[in-house]
Amino acid sequence: MLAVIPVRDGALPAGAAEAAAEADGRVLLVGSRTAETDTTGLGHDVRSVELGAYAPAGWAVRLRPLLIDHDVVLLPSSPDGRDLAPRLAHSLGRPLYAGAVEVGSGRVVVSRGAGLELHTFRPHGGFVATLQPGVRDPLSGHAATTAVGAVDVTEHAAPTTPEPLPDPEIAALLPPDVATMDLSEAPRILGGGAGLDTADRFAQLARIAADLDAAMGATRVITDRNWVGHERQIGTTGVVVDPSLYLAFGVSGAVQHTSGLGHPDHVISVNTDPHCPMMQMSDLAIVADANAVVDELEGLLAERGAR
Ligand SMILES: Cc1cc2nc3c(=O)[nH]c(=O)nc-3n(C[C@H](O)[C@H](O)[C@H](O)COP(=O)(O)OP(=O)(O)OC[C@H]3O[C@@H](n4cnc5c(N)ncnc54)[C@H](O)[C@@H]3O)c2cc1C
Repeated sequence: MLAVIPVRDGALPAGAAEAAAEADGRVLLVGSRTAETDTTGLGHDVRSVELGAYAPAGWAVRLRPLLIDHDVVLLPSSPDGRDLAPRLAHSLGRPLYAGAVEVGSGRVVVSRGAGLELHTFRPHGGFVATLQPGVRDPLSGHAATTAVGAVDVTEHAAPTTPEPLPDPEIAALLPPDVATMDLSEAPRILGGGAGLDTADRFAQLARIAADLDAAMGATRVITDRNWVGHERQIGTTGVVVDPSLYLAFGVSGAVQHTSGLGHPDHVISVNTDPHCPMMQMSDLAIVADANAVVDELEGLLAERGAR
């Protein structure tokens, strides 16, 4: 198994370390400025291919000779990983298993129905899969030791490779909009739970989040009420996230929620119950009415002219 990690300007996508670990530390970094990528802890056999700017159709064809001998090609289920994987599967003539939570040789477990169902497949030949971020731990200790080597893709390009479909021309590259960006990629998240009293609170939380350059997330109780869409649900049956800062408003911290939280550097929680799990795992635990704190926060941001 080989983990193929799309890299932009030397930056690893969300889920890179887990995909590397699932492939037992055998990694191929593909993309731009791959030599500058921090590969610490990725694995024992990390190679790189400099392919320049993101061009998935062309990459899929150029990477074919490098991947054809690997039975299982695994990508992180990051936006670029989800985009490149089907093109690689087509280029290699293999099936794709998207949204896997476990991948082994001859066995893939994929999550379906918003995480409520797990399906096990036993492919007979080679396949391509994407691994959901946060479903396993990265490598640690000896297995994470990194040895980097460069692979010259042009030397390996097969002369008989068919012409790739043309890649779209990029007119401009805009930074992600925190209101709509993939929650799994958000560096800061404001999460709301049943302690917030109305659906309007979540529109308010989204406004405050945008002012703080953060994304808005919610618990399942809230998505089950249809107060926010399922793509905003944090947790095992929602989106697995890994922000550096998580602010929880009226969230109890049930294990199905916190196990999808990744490893935030800082957690701040506002709750009327000082003993609930979310407060226990917080760096700053504020015992207060979350609705009042949200109002206060919005007022302070308005005073400071954030909007
Ligand atoms: C199979 C399965 C999968 C699940 N998957 C997920 C998942 O992916 N994500 C997820 O989030 N959940 C998931 N759940 C549900 C999970 O178990 C919890 O029920 C849910 O996370 C609780 O959401 P909550 O914290 O918003 O609500 P509650 O547990 O009801 O907690 C509300 C919190 O708000 C506090 N509070 C109340 N009033 C105020 C106030 N005025 N101010 C401040 N605090 C206040 C309370 O003290 C409490 O801590 C799953 C459950 C199952 C069975």
